[in-house]
Amino acid sequence: MKADTGFQQMFPDNAVSLASRFLTPSLFRRLSKLKTATGFTLDQAIRSGRENPDSDIGIYAGDPESYTLFQDIFDPVIRACHRISGPICHVSELRPLDLDGPDPEGRYILSTRIRIARNLSGYAFTPNLTPGIRQVAEQRIKQAVAALPDPFKGAYHAMGGLSPEEISARASAGTAFLPGDRFQAGAGITRGFPASRGVFASHDKNFVWINEEDQLRIICLEKNGSLSLVFNRLILALELLGRSLSFAWDPCKGYLNACPTNIGTAMRAGVHIRLPGLERQPDRLNELASSHGLQIRGTRGEKTAVSGAVFDISNRFRLGIGETRLIQDLHSGITAIIAAEKQLAVSGPGSPEP
Ligand code: ADP
Ligand code: MG
Repeated sequence: MKADTGFQQMFPDNAVSLASRFLTPSLFRRLSKLKTATGFTLDQAIRSGRENPDSDIGIYAGDPESYTLFQDIFDPVIRACHRISGPICHVSELRPLDLDGPDPEGRYILSTRIRIARNLSGYAFTPNLTPGIRQVAEQRIKQAVAALPDPFKGAYHAMGGLSPEEISARASAGTAFLPGDRFQAGAGITRGFPASRGVFASHDKNFVWINEEDQLRIICLEKNGSLSLVFNRLILALELLGRSLSFAWDPCKGYLNACPTNIGTAMRAGVHIRLPGLERQPDRLNELASSHGLQIRGTRGEKTAVSGAVFDISNRFRLGIGETRLIQDLHSGITAIIAAEKQLAVSGPGSPEP
């Protein structure tokens, strides 16, 4: 497949991404002739995947229309990353939960974080934003968050004009975010950083990141394992924001965002959890996580290392399963992982794998 002239220019031979797997030469030739109304092309969509052969996905959307105009490449990628075999079908169920914390003694879970991604309807996505439109989006979102009632009252911290040192210091305090990685840079998402970026931080540990990978990342955080509390707060934040903002949405694909892994519910719910025993048994930890539909990331986010045995464990799939069910699955997965960690502590570090 990659030997075809033209196609070879698009993906290097060592590319491993889903896009490089599904983009046939004839599909490439056909889709290359198209352009969305905001001027986004297939060449732009796969630029990051081409520059970074180790990309997992290798394709980004530049606007909602990308998902329909380039559907023949996006759909197989979406099916593979959300493990969907039949029709692509968005499910949403935002029902408040009352689950017991999976770590009642607070011995393992350091924090619980749930975020959802959203983009304003009628706008291009971050890989395809002009500086002017990025600024308009920032202003609209800033006004909407400033009008939120309690418990979401807070302050907006603009990042434009800050030095890298100031950004790094504020990121530790939660009032800024770091520039994106090389995958986001290749997609054009980090262009002009940090202009028109910012963080709205409420007094109650809720955040809205503006113009990071998506125009909005709505984040609820607690320094414990109260999954229900964090989820119920997120439901409320979403409902309130939905009164003043409308988001890019499709009946089958759900909420549309820059990366096809982040469509549907666009929710990633996870915990930072310390697992010194299971760190020594990575196969067992991976098996426990994947059998519960969970993924493991490093301590400082996607594609970072694990430090101090602190893992970020969260739902792998975001489309085709409702939000409430995703939280219940996370709860049972984390409960099973904690049980395995406790068992290792009893049997001791030198004991063989069961
Ligand atoms: P996403 O894009 O899904 O929001 P990333 O992997 O890019 O997630 O991480 C974004 C930031 O959120 C990183 O700084 C990461 O350390 C932080 N983070 C992720 N999960 C948690 C958690 N459970 N508690 C505290 N911080 C977290
Ligand atoms: Mg991220």
